Order: sequence, then C-alpha cells, then structure tokens
Amino acid sequence: MKPAVFSYQSPRTLDEVFGELAEHGSDARVLAGGQSLIRLMNARTETPGVLVDINRIPGLDEVTVEDGVVRIGALVRQRTSEVSPVIREHTPVFSEAGAEVAHVSVRERGTVVGSIAFADPCAELPTALVALDGEIVARSTRGERVIPAEQMFLGPYRTALAEDEMAVEARLPALPTGRTGSAFLEITRRHGELPVCGVASILRLDDDGQITEARISVGAVGDRPQRARAAESALLGRTTDPEVWREAGELAAREIEPRPTVHGSSAYRRHLASVVTRRSLSRAAARALEGAHHV
Ligand SMILES: Cc1cc2nc3c(=O)[nH]c(=O)nc-3n(C[C@H](O)[C@H](O)[C@H](O)COP(=O)(O)OP(=O)(O)OC[C@H]3O[C@@H](n4cnc5c(N)ncnc54)[C@H](O)[C@@H]3O)c2cc1C
Repeated sequence: MKPAVFSYQSPRTLDEVFGELAEHGSDARVLAGGQSLIRLMNARTETPGVLVDINRIPGLDEVTVEDGVVRIGALVRQRTSEVSPVIREHTPVFSEAGAEVAHVSVRERGTVVGSIAFADPCAELPTALVALDGEIVARSTRGERVIPAEQMFLGPYRTALAEDEMAVEARLPALPTGRTGSAFLEITRRHGELPVCGVASILRLDDDGQITEARISVGAVGDRPQRARAAESALLGRTTDPEVWREAGELAAREIEPRPTVHGSSAYRRHLASVVTRRSLSRAAARALEGAHHV
C-alpha cells in the first residue's frame, strides 16, 4: 500500500521543528530514520497530515561525553552508536544491546532516539536505557525537560513525550570503572527479529566479591522495559554464585507482568524472563570479576 496524503516539511533548525510540532500537534510526526514510521504509514496504521523530517538539521548526529554522561543526539544512527568507542568504553551494555537490533542495513538508518521515541516494548535500546538509568531530553516551544528512562515508557508505543515535543538527546550515565560488569542477552525466534525476552544487567562488586550494586531491566515480556527491583535488592551483599543468579531470575520473573502474545503465553514469557535474567547476571558477574568492561 501507499501512504495517505501528507505534507512534508524539512526544517533546517530545531526552532522550526518545534514550531511545526506546536502548530500541528497530534497531526504531525517527526521523521528520523523512518525505519518504523514509513512502514506504518505505508500500511496506513499511521496517517499523519504533516511529516517533519529532522535529517537536515546540523549538530544532532554527535556522540559526546561530558561530566561522566554520554550524550547521543537525535540523529545518531543505531549503527554509529553500536560501534562508537565512547559508548563501548562508558556504557558497553548499550553497544551490546545495539548490536542485536534488526540487521545492519536497518541500523545504518534507524536512530537511537527514534527507537526510544517509538517505544516498541520489545526493543533492545529502551531496555538498556532503563538499566543504565538513562534520560531523554525533550524540547518544544515551551522549553526543555529531562525525562528519566523509567518514566519515559508508559506502555506499548506510548511515551511521556507530549505531542509538541521532540526528543533531542538521550543521556547515559557512564558505568563506574573497576569491578563493574554488564551484559545484554536476548531470545529471538530468528536472527535480527525483535526479542521475545531481552535483559540488561549491571553488577558492581567490592574487593571481597560481594555485590554492592545490581540493576536488571527486563524488556519484551511486559508492556514496557521494567526494572526488577526486588531481584536487584535481593542481590545486594551476596557473592557471585549460580544459585544466586537462579534465585534472582525467579524473583525478576515474578515481578514482571507478562503480556500474552502470538509468540508465547504469559507463563512461557515469565519462564523466559527467569532464564534470561539468570544468564545475563551470570555473564555480567564474570565480566565484573575480570574487572573490565566487555562488549
Ligand atoms: C526489518 C526491520 C527490523 C527491525 N528489527 C528491530 C529490532 O530487532 N529491534 C528494534 O529495537 N527495532 C527494530 N526495528 C525498528 C528500528 O529499530 C527503527 O529504526 C526504530 O524503531 C525507529 O527509529 P527510526 O529512527 O527509524 O524512527 P522513525 O521510524 O523515523 O520514527 C519512529 C517513531 O518515533 C518518532 N520519533 C523519531 N524520532 C523522534 C524524536 N527525535 N523525537 C520525537 N519523536 C521521534 C516518530 O515520529 C515515529 O512516531 C526494525 C525495523 C525494521 C524495518
């Protein structure tokens, strides 16, 4: 099918974008990589009257690090993020998750911020963003606000962004150096597909090998990426041990409310959450013990 009639705007400045969004509200859509939006427009699931293409705006395609925070502009492609030495060094779990998104051809065009704004509950990058306690910077004619990752995702394809707001940047606090390990692991039906379960874990150990910090974000199982807080708390003070990962996996699976989908019942998804959490923690712990980040 072909898209319904729409008008195409190609502004050269952010202020022009904000003006278009303020004027057209719910009838306007930002066009970033187009990898999700154009498909939906062709299927007429999305029928915006105005498309605001941000691709000609300078300065949005940069990855920088400032005061221990990695900043990813709205036009940074998923592939650029995946191979960025800055992101690999400071937030390796984001690179690892990024390598699992679709195929290289999609990642060459699709943007990191577009994936976050699209809020597919299965998408890898939002799951990693939530584990990293990342933030989204939203701007409009009304000004700027910073949305913590956990408040960004409201449900499938629903975010905290208002109709007149554009997400201009994602921010990722750098992981501590030393005995910190992270891992992103997922189960997909076929290579390159969206996962049926994806888990990002971050573990920090003290010199005795005791866990001082644990973060677990479970994606694809519930209606948005969610932190498994009870499992995280239960890990504190424990040492790295397969039984500990198993217990944490079971706790995490109980915390997440699974959605039944064509790819599996709620019970199956809960089981997957338990297994993938266990494996992800085990890998993060091995990396923490080595005292180095790995991708
Ligand atoms: C074959 C195929 C396989 C895929 N597999 C996966 C996968 O395994 N995992 C995965 O995570 N994704 C997958 N995707 C989706 C892909 O990652 C998209 O690139 C991503 O979902 C959207 O990014 P985009 O830059 O292309 O955004 P667009 O398609 O341009 O936009 C998507 C939505 O986000 C909004 N938006 C975009 N940028 C902004 C912004 N800066 N501010 C406010 N709103 C904005 C748009 O208005 C639109 O509603 C796949 C896509 C394809 C075509």
